[in-house]
Amino acid sequence: MLEPLFNLIFPKICYACGIAISGQIQHICFTCRGDLAKMNIQDFTNNKIQHLFWGRLELKKASAYLKFEQHGKTQHLLHALKYKGIKEVGITLGELAAIELMEGNFFAEIDVLLPIPIHRIKTKKRGFNQSHFIAKGISNITEITIDVASMIKNINTKSQTKKNRFERFENVSQTFEIVNSKQLEHKHVLLIDDVVTTGATIEACGNTLRNINGIQLSLLTIASTY
Ligand SMILES: [Zn+2]
Repeated sequence: MLEPLFNLIFPKICYACGIAISGQIQHICFTCRGDLAKMNIQDFTNNKIQHLFWGRLELKKASAYLKFEQHGKTQHLLHALKYKGIKEVGITLGELAAIELMEGNFFAEIDVLLPIPIHRIKTKKRGFNQSHFIAKGISNITEITIDVASMIKNINTKSQTKKNRFERFENVSQTFEIVNSKQLEHKHVLLIDDVVTTGATIEACGNTLRNINGIQLSLLTIASTY
């Protein structure tokens, strides 16, 4: 009953366009939901994202939901999630991505969702792993379980923005550690990340997981710069 008053004092805003939202919709307004620049990947076994990892990491399937454009809506949403700490944006994006990808049967044969781990110092600073909240959204729709316990990141990699691809790979290699391999043996694991740029972190994480007996890997990111 107090909600209209609460909304008047603290209007809900759309984290993509910054305009106030009315009604039941949350975090991303109707207009922006329709306007998001989608990747529209149809073939999950042969596409831009998969090609990026050729010769680097074997992926059964790969997809990205949105195009990442400088100053675009997707960037605003990921910024709200990562730097303003609006976890619900991650959940909403995960749900929207899952609804779209369910149509193409992307989640068939996937046993577990594994958000790419971030180091605990970063988790402490930010308070959460953004990819975990994206995975929660995906799990809400698909009912696939999330594993955040079997793998950790054990070295806090320095900022990567001024490094080239090779240096970035060097910087992140050997930093993921499997703490419970039994849990993932013979499983088809879907790696979850917010955005794919060079793919170096995903490559390092995936190649560590490939040491596990019978594991198969696929990848889903919310956004892609390609
Ligand atoms: Zn909007």
